[in-house]
Amino acid sequence: MKFYFPDSQDQVSPTYDFIHDEYSPLRVRQRDDRYAHEVLTLPAYDGLLVSKAIVDGTIQGVGKYSMPQRQRLYRLGVRGFFRLPEDVVTLGDCGAFTYVNEPEPPYSVGEVIDFYNRCGFDAGVSIDHVILGYRRPGSNAGEVPDEWKERRRISLHFAEKFLTAIHEHGTPFEPVGAAQGWDPESYADSVKELQAMGYSRIALGGMVPLKTPDILACLAAIADIRETDTQLHLLGITRIDSMNEFAEFGVTSFDSTSSFRQSFMDDRDNYHTTDTTYSAIRVPQVDANVSLKKAILAGKVSQAAAVTADRESLKLLREFDTGRCSLDEALDAVLRYEELIGVKKSYADLYRRTLDHAPWRHCVCGLCAKHGIEIAIFRGSERNKRRGFHNLSVLADKMKSLHAARPRPLERIASG
Ligand SMILES: [Zn+2]
Repeated sequence: MKFYFPDSQDQVSPTYDFIHDEYSPLRVRQRDDRYAHEVLTLPAYDGLLVSKAIVDGTIQGVGKYSMPQRQRLYRLGVRGFFRLPEDVVTLGDCGAFTYVNEPEPPYSVGEVIDFYNRCGFDAGVSIDHVILGYRRPGSNAGEVPDEWKERRRISLHFAEKFLTAIHEHGTPFEPVGAAQGWDPESYADSVKELQAMGYSRIALGGMVPLKTPDILACLAAIADIRETDTQLHLLGITRIDSMNEFAEFGVTSFDSTSSFRQSFMDDRDNYHTTDTTYSAIRVPQVDANVSLKKAILAGKVSQAAAVTADRESLKLLREFDTGRCSLDEALDAVLRYEELIGVKKSYADLYRRTLDHAPWRHCVCGLCAKHGIEIAIFRGSERNKRRGFHNLSVLADKMKSLHAARPRPLERIASG
């Protein structure tokens, strides 16, 4: 099972000064900042997924690349631009969720093939159009909307044109057909059609909002028509607990940002380990936190007092990490700061658990040992992204142990 990380230009600055919370004046972002695979000791991912919409931008402005970055990607190719190690493979797609509200995908087959070729991807997904809805078999929701059928038709139409063009021009990347659907039967039918066109690698799109049993129901329906050499990719799905079942249905790869993003998007599960998750300790930066800035401007919070409490929290957390103060002293400083700035929902008990277990002390990802407790502090992108990178290495590790934990289906049959 291969894990692809979707690129969103997430990098960290190796020279960031955590004590003063500032960047080096000599930092040149594009030269000095580093991707997850460059700062982790453990492997972060098997592959990198890069979307055309993220690179080129869309009408809604989801692009993450500046003009010089985009030009550099085209000039150096995806491998050179990301400074990828040999063993990390690359996959291009269109980023269908970015144009989900448009009546049709905004790209032509020629533009997409040109993107994959110029960037030098190992594989590229055909243009697809996400169907925003799912019908569980047996539900009484009535007729399937025409729009859903149209989007499936558009996706299959583009897949056919894509493969024809690739065969005509002999492009170097591996074509991946995108399958869309709204129930197990329609997904299975899409896969069947893509196989008939000649695809042996198929990406299942639009499943992000689906519950795991629904994904499994679709995979079971696909299993009935799947040819033995057809490999499936799940777009945007992690569900680590079901990975072995997915594998039994022919899924060989997936991509997802969730373990990375949980480090700063999740309410509490911010720092992952192979067997549990921890809350990162929130110490908002006075001059960088929007709601805190507002409260200061409105006169509800004293800026000077907030700055002092902020510094004191960080100082005592660091002292706790090096054994110079107790857990209670450090936690009290954090809670006093919370009280001062009027934090409504405190996670005191969760913070106590995080500090008590201090999971970063035993982590070998390469970042935890270097940064200590900083990685467990919820504050600014340099800490939060490093914690996200750490989570990626934990996901990779979990997947390895999953493979070891259960035999493959054939072996099971043979042995019993
Ligand atoms: Zn770590």
